[in-house]
Amino acid sequence: MIKAQIPQLKALLSLPKNIVIVPHRNPDGDAMGSTLALYHYLKLYNHNAVVIAPNDYPDFLKWLPGDDTVLKFETAPDESSTLINNADLIFTLDFNAFHRAGHQMAEVLEPSKAIKVMIDHHQQPDDYAEYMYSDVSMSSTCEMVYNVIEMLGDDDKINATIATCLYVGIMTDTGSFRFPATTSRTHQVIGNLIEKGAENSQIHNNIYDTNSYSRLQLLGRAMQNLKVIPDLRTAYITLSQAELDEFNFKKGDTEGFVNYALSLKDIIFAAIFIESQQDQIIKISLRSKGEFSVNEFSRAYFNGGGHTNAAGGRSEDDMQTTINKFISILPQYKNDLTQ
Ligand code: 5GP
Ligand code: MN
Repeated sequence: MIKAQIPQLKALLSLPKNIVIVPHRNPDGDAMGSTLALYHYLKLYNHNAVVIAPNDYPDFLKWLPGDDTVLKFETAPDESSTLINNADLIFTLDFNAFHRAGHQMAEVLEPSKAIKVMIDHHQQPDDYAEYMYSDVSMSSTCEMVYNVIEMLGDDDKINATIATCLYVGIMTDTGSFRFPATTSRTHQVIGNLIEKGAENSQIHNNIYDTNSYSRLQLLGRAMQNLKVIPDLRTAYITLSQAELDEFNFKKGDTEGFVNYALSLKDIIFAAIFIESQQDQIIKISLRSKGEFSVNEFSRAYFNGGGHTNAAGGRSEDDMQTTINKFISILPQYKNDLTQ
């Protein structure tokens, strides 16, 4: 894709089809916003569409229009597999490699005969999609879904429901319109979405002002655990399973914590390490400012990836070993981190 393939995609969508729309595992605002926006758009053409999320997502996304229609592969593997096997078209949104849907779901997606459409802004895409719209310069997958609808000549079909979903993903992936991938075009799209009925202030409240007391207490603990390595302009946070339990951790509660570490004056590399007893891993979120690529760093050392300035990863070692490894790697990057 994209422009050259648009007439073909338009023809494909001109008659009702069985369509499955998939976000990545542990879906965030952009993953759920983009998949649900596309779902509502395809419904206007009477497609038999369904969003199948690999697993559950945080409560602060559960008010999104269409949330009640979302299937979760993890809790409904048979029904989900049947839908995937019977799909004419599969849209994969906000990810670009099947394993990002989790191993079990990847095993069903991979052999599927459906035509695949990828819409995504992460680095280093796999080559599985007949229709591939991959652009790492984009603020969000939601901005790209907006572009697709516009290229299909359907801007006038964007109603308040679709606009609300798209607004959520652009807002969350840009850190409320402040990260460098936010362009004047991003703001223009946001302006159009407000005109179409997205209630911007209400959406901000729904996403950001639903803190529980225990989440704020957990944030307090995370801030106490914050460590700084000034020479390498790096800061990191740890949260053990025991600490998560102490503060009644719920999915999504640690969202955004790592950004506090990155907000320190002179810090350009930040990490948070979160123990997951259930998955037997340390989940890692990495953030940077400027040129230093946390995507490359995570791919090289922590089995992950993402964007230049935001990536995820994992470690199968325990917390202390993981931290020791992290600290021991940093000096290799002294030039990049201190230039
Ligand atoms: P987070 O730290 O919020 O989990 O993820 C930051 C960014 O990196 C998101 O865009 C997310 O989709 C991506 N990401 C997180 N974990 C992984 C991973 O294991 N592999 C890849 N390729 N991307 C990831
Ligand atoms: Mn995204």
